Amino acid sequence: MLKETMRAEIIAIGSELTNGEKLDTNSQWLSTQLASIGISTHFHSTIADHIDEIVDQFQLATQRSDVVLITGGLGPTLDDLTRQALAKLMEVDLVLDKHSLQIIESMFQKRYREMPERNRIQAMFPKGSEPIQNLHGTAPGIWMDVPHTDSKTNCCIAAMPGVPSEMKPMFQQSILPRLTQGSSVIRFVRINCFGVGESKTEELLGEITSRGRDPEVGITAHEATITLRIKAIGESVKVCEQKISETYAIIHKRLGDYIYGYEDEELEHVVVTMLNERHLSLATSECGTGGLLSYRLTEVAGSNGCYAGGIISSIHSPSGRQLNSAEENKPALNADAAIFLAKETREQHASDFAISIVLDVDQSWQDTENIPQAFVALVADGIELTEEIGLTVNRAIAKSRVTKVALNLLRQHLNSSTKE
Ligand code: ATP
Ligand code: MG
Repeated sequence: MLKETMRAEIIAIGSELTNGEKLDTNSQWLSTQLASIGISTHFHSTIADHIDEIVDQFQLATQRSDVVLITGGLGPTLDDLTRQALAKLMEVDLVLDKHSLQIIESMFQKRYREMPERNRIQAMFPKGSEPIQNLHGTAPGIWMDVPHTDSKTNCCIAAMPGVPSEMKPMFQQSILPRLTQGSSVIRFVRINCFGVGESKTEELLGEITSRGRDPEVGITAHEATITLRIKAIGESVKVCEQKISETYAIIHKRLGDYIYGYEDEELEHVVVTMLNERHLSLATSECGTGGLLSYRLTEVAGSNGCYAGGIISSIHSPSGRQLNSAEENKPALNADAAIFLAKETREQHASDFAISIVLDVDQSWQDTENIPQAFVALVADGIELTEEIGLTVNRAIAKSRVTKVALNLLRQHLNSSTKE
């Protein structure tokens, strides 16, 4: 069933979604599930409980996509219209599925309740469709194929309940296996890089990011971390892995030390591992990041082995005050200040390394004339390294980026000292 260029779309049904009472989280979840088997989602749409509009959307979706996932509107109430809309789309009647009716009746019996007549509708299916059992609620799902009018291919539709706790197991147990049946194997690998921008990465990678390449290489950026995603399709896991390792070798040659880790690895994981392996310790001094660097480090299992602690200050704290320049009350936010803080914390914690950050959080982030600056420093015996960072966008991103730059400075230093 799975083919390389399969296009999916997701339709969420319910007036509670279009009027803003509820957020459509189903579509987001389903998109990530589809992505994990290599199907990309091209459209999300949300439709109120109006039959004609639902049918219109089904018509459009089934003609332009290969897979249409629908959630919501399968309940027993009059405003649940998905099954009726599917029947209208196919110009067929709703027919009773006795087996589904028995299951629904027995669910009520188990709760010592009589099945309300209205629930009978949940055992009715558009003629030619297939019921999908719901192990977690009364509304079964609906599976059906709709021919594309301009080709011999079909679009498959899966309609699922709106309630996330019913929809998710139904998707995983009954829909996912159908989508991947008899298909080739897909494998993904993520490579994480830091210290290089998105467009520069693309330039360095050259033709390997071109569309339609096998394996495919995609680039995404999140708070200055660049992630490359390699997607390989083949007849076996071994074939996929071989393809991935060949592409990885090219990427490694082109990006070198910008690559720091894989999958969910963050810079702090890599730094903690490197420090622990070498029995080295680290202290931090942060002015303006509220301890984000310390937070990141202490999130890593094993950080106790190398993290000696740190100072969190503001430009008005005792540490911060010492940064004040000759000009009255004007803090000196510069590389020297960063070195000063790093040395101070290294001494206090008797650590091998210290890294510091100097960031004025009350800068104007949107100032394009005087781009706000931050400074990081790394000190150790005989080593004083600093980096200046130009910041834009907003406070949260600035804090995140600066802490990553600080970690990366240490990572690169540790890397280069191994090579010597
Ligand atoms: P039921 O048998 O429970 O009525 P249903 O298929 O009719 O199932 P809906 O009535 O459309 O589902 O929705 C039931 C509840 O599920 C909603 O009130 C809402 O809380 C949740 N829900 C529906 N659609 C979504 C969605 N797209 N994202 C998140 N939650 C949703
Ligand atoms: Mg309902």
